[in-house]
Amino acid sequence: KNKVLDNSCKELVPSYDWFQTDGSLTVVIYTKQKDMNSELVIADLQEGKLRGEVIVKDYSYLLHVELSYAVHEDMIVQVSEKVGKVEFILKKKEAASWKNLGQPLESHDSFVKRSDRGLYYRRCRLLSKTDVTHDTRLFCLMLPPGTHLQVPVGHHLYLRQTIAGTEIVKPYTPVLSSFESMGKNPPQNDKMHIFFMIKIYPSGLFTPVLDTLQIGEYISVSNPEGNFMKLQVEDVEELFLLAGGTGFTPMVKLLNYALTSCNILRTAKLMFFNKMEEDILWRNQLEQLALDDARFDIQLVLSEPKEEWTGKQGKISSSLLSQFVKRSTHGSKILICICGPLPFMEQGVQFLQDLGHTSEEIHCFTA
Ligand code: FAD
Ligand code: NAD
Repeated sequence: KNKVLDNSCKELVPSYDWFQTDGSLTVVIYTKQKDMNSELVIADLQEGKLRGEVIVKDYSYLLHVELSYAVHEDMIVQVSEKVGKVEFILKKKEAASWKNLGQPLESHDSFVKRSDRGLYYRRCRLLSKTDVTHDTRLFCLMLPPGTHLQVPVGHHLYLRQTIAGTEIVKPYTPVLSSFESMGKNPPQNDKMHIFFMIKIYPSGLFTPVLDTLQIGEYISVSNPEGNFMKLQVEDVEELFLLAGGTGFTPMVKLLNYALTSCNILRTAKLMFFNKMEEDILWRNQLEQLALDDARFDIQLVLSEPKEEWTGKQGKISSSLLSQFVKRSTHGSKILICICGPLPFMEQGVQFLQDLGHTSEEIHCFTA
């Protein structure tokens, strides 16, 4: 069932069990982890099949069964963080006693390196599509009722479409619905909504097809992936964000997290690089946020400005960065996050290193 595991991870292997009442069924995964959380559990209940994946350090545990009898399409997922217990609570369609849980499906009860577990996709419905700029739109997708999936800050998902007979996948980073929802507790059903800010390239392979998706139609969405950890910002005093174009997307939830949950954060500054004024994503919202929160500031830089632009001009450069990434207090802990076109990131990192910043102080968002 499992690939040969080295000794260091044998003790991590979770186990599962199940219980029932007349009306419900509870499937439990015991992870033995004291720092379990809801983002480490991705579960899907679809057409009588239960697939529950739990991330344990660098490993993935999978429970995957075809249930013996019919259940309702939605389920409750409960995570007991301190005891490391994950429960899937399902409602039976008929109140009869089950003799067994069901038939094992592919990779059931397996524990493998996270990178060896293939991506799993579920169909999500397009609820709305609104213009952000002339070429960028905000897509709101809804997860199916039997899915439990929360995207960690700084992580992305893959969207999959069949184009001219070939399956194509591309990564996208979920954002908030708007900065106005920042710091507010989202209503319970908001966990079912995922917002993407996506630029449509007329000569691109994927985005023109995505743009033809109609409200009510479905698209396949993968499990989250990513290399960013919240831990990287928790003890940061000054946060510097460098974004080029849609490289802004990972900054949205990161800013939200930093400004609402990081107690010792003193400043968060965004330097936002775009070609023209009309390309600036959520400009009004960013300027409003800067007015509302004294810790936040924004610097706009245009590479192809019109004549009337009086702000900063050019592309990412050592002089722009040396003026922008400055500690307000000697020795304060900083983090610089960078995302955008590949050459923008490569040049940015090089300039930052030349300016003396260590690799621990720099995070690049990549696939
Ligand atoms: P492509 O076919 O890739 O083309 C893009 C542009 O490049 C077009 O203008 C095309 O004409 C041009 N082009 C293509 N090939 C060449 C070539 N050989 N030479 C010169 N020009 C060429 N994008 C978002 O909008 N929002 C996000 O939240 C987002 N998140 C991402 C997260 C990650 C981790 C990564 C890696 C990327 C992310 N992207 C995001 C980018 C996204 O994955 C796609 O790359 C993007 O949508 C373009 O896809 P496409 O197939 O439509 O265009
Ligand atoms: P764009 O072409 O509109 O450029 C925006 C700005 O980036 C430009 O104004 C310029 O300042 C800078 N820039 C562009 N090309 C450059 C170059 N060759 N050298 C130096 N600076 C350059 O940007 P876009 O079309 O919005 O593209 C955004 C990019 O960000 C895409 O390549 C996308 O894949 C990437 N992205 C990555 C992630 C991630 O997590 N890794 C997330 C979102 C977007």
